[in-house]
Amino acid sequence: MLNKTIALSALLLVGACSRAPEPKTVPTPQRNGQGPSGDNTRAGGDSGRAGGNAPAQPRPYNRVITRDAKTRRGMFAVHRVNDKLYFEIPKNELNKDMLMVGRFTRAAAANPRLPGGQFGNYGGDQFTERTLRWDRSGNRIILRSPSFAIVADSTNPVYRAVQAANYPPVIAVLNVEAYGPDSAAVVDVTRLYTTSVPEFAAIRGTLDERRSFVENALAFPDNVEVEATQTGTPSPAPGGAGGGGGGQGQGPQAAQSVLAHWSLVRLPERPMVPRRWDERVGYFSIAQVDFGTSEQRSADRSYISRYRLEKKDPSAALSEPVKPIVYYVDPATPEQWKPWIRKAILDWQPAFEAAGFKNAIIAMDPPANDPDWSAEDIRHTVIRWLPSTIENAQGPHVSDPRTGEILNGSVRMFHNVLNLQRDWYFTQASPLDPRARTLPFPDSLMGRLLEFVVAHEIGHTLGLRHDQIGSSTYPADSVRSASWVHRMGHAPSIM
Ligand SMILES: [Zn+2]
Repeated sequence: MLNKTIALSALLLVGACSRAPEPKTVPTPQRNGQGPSGDNTRAGGDSGRAGGNAPAQPRPYNRVITRDAKTRRGMFAVHRVNDKLYFEIPKNELNKDMLMVGRFTRAAAANPRLPGGQFGNYGGDQFTERTLRWDRSGNRIILRSPSFAIVADSTNPVYRAVQAANYPPVIAVLNVEAYGPDSAAVVDVTRLYTTSVPEFAAIRGTLDERRSFVENALAFPDNVEVEATQTGTPSPAPGGAGGGGGGQGQGPQAAQSVLAHWSLVRLPERPMVPRRWDERVGYFSIAQVDFGTSEQRSADRSYISRYRLEKKDPSAALSEPVKPIVYYVDPATPEQWKPWIRKAILDWQPAFEAAGFKNAIIAMDPPANDPDWSAEDIRHTVIRWLPSTIENAQGPHVSDPRTGEILNGSVRMFHNVLNLQRDWYFTQASPLDPRARTLPFPDSLMGRLLEFVVAHEIGHTLGLRHDQIGSSTYPADSVRSASWVHRMGHAPSIM
């Protein structure tokens, strides 16, 4: 669909970028690379009551949330009191499906001059993703991580068996420190963010609590955002490869610090109606096993990853969506490329218009004077510019594990993808295009090449995989015909 708007795509090869990671269908605990101490640590109200062994004894509210508290109110109230972080969880947020996504705000990317140092940790890189549910039991809050890998309709008796086989792991047991108005439970969550809780930790290894601390906490109507510096010693990577920020080379592992950001968002209370995946159409998907069928056997169900677009005016053939898909352009992008990145975002509008949506996808710059806005907030889809020598780009996304609804996309442009595009275009088109016969290319040409890659990566964040089968349907002799390629493009889609 986009090939007609992007003529240059005829000259570029598919497959430059790394594919977005396969969506995680089962949020299983990540034990990989966990140091020996990692599994033993569990968050508790404070160290003396970790694991909830001692009886919880709530105190008066104002003894816990003192006048010094820095408070923000939203889905939860979040209170910072000295170096402690408290969540005040209202009753109506208990037992709700939530998603926690952890990303680096600042990290130490590996030195690109060292072997294996090209991929590193960059701002926006994701280090964890978990479904979470907060329950109260007496004076304790139990934090669990539910799974949606096996399902059944809740009106079906077999649902009970599915539930019994789906007992979610307990990530933390937190004593209720106090009760707020309306019996909202106040819990100390500091240790979730400053100690080696494997489901939360930004560094796979041993964290040093004395060098880890909460930096910020914000609350919004549907999400809570926490930022903390974590310092620790990474576990050696499997196979001994470098990577990650800290300890390359020989000798004892050096400490590493990251500014980590956790976005905790309530999953939609009205789940999106999922759309069945069909192997003929290249979508990323989530998979579930449904035991509630009348087929006399379980059914493997796969649902595509897609945004939930709903028409403002359902009766109109072409309508704006209730909620458009917004892509932000990273302010760190070199100025001369920003217009091309905005153009790549808008290149997708005709595809959505064909599906009945006007202005479904729009380009924006982050607000200049909003200290609460962050690129790591899961509500913000950002096209990032990253100082990496790797000649590539990526387009991962985060989706609701229950339905496949895309909640967030993240385009990661590595700086030296420019080099890859220049080499391709020089090799393939310089005999035909005089602009490509001198280096560096003019910005007008390089921008167009960049636009192509960004539009392709956006396609991944919209849930689309590489369109290998579609590409195979174009006969080779047709692709060699200039007039045919002008009309049809070199492949049926930009993917
Ligand atoms: Zn790709």
